[in-house]
Amino acid sequence: MNNQAQIMDKEKFLKWLDGEEAACLWEGPEGLMKYDMLVETINADEFAPDTPPVPTIKPGDKGFKCKACKETFSAYEWNLSTALYCGTSDVSPIETTSAGDAFFICPGCEKASNHRDLEVVE
Ligand SMILES: [Zn+2]
Repeated sequence: MNNQAQIMDKEKFLKWLDGEEAACLWEGPEGLMKYDMLVETINADEFAPDTPPVPTIKPGDKGFKCKACKETFSAYEWNLSTALYCGTSDVSPIETTSAGDAFFICPGCEKASNHRDLEVVE
């Protein structure tokens, strides 16, 4: 389960479509039509992610470090990852002290950790 939005750079993809590597895709009588259709669809943002990218930690934010993968993620990322894993938004927020016995799903390695095993990074 990967709940991170998959992001591609639209400009890089369009540049690649125009390049030598992709040129063979546009060969044949309908090649140009296929090319136009694909470029138009990309430019209409049909493939844009439905959810905005998960915000990363800014200076001053409290982060929580996973013991398993040693990565630090924001409270928002831990809460989102755990809510998706549990299939409900009704999870104790990681930043509340009442979550001591609760487990949270690491947004990076997707392992479950008890709240008390997470290192708080200021
Ligand atoms: Zn982890």
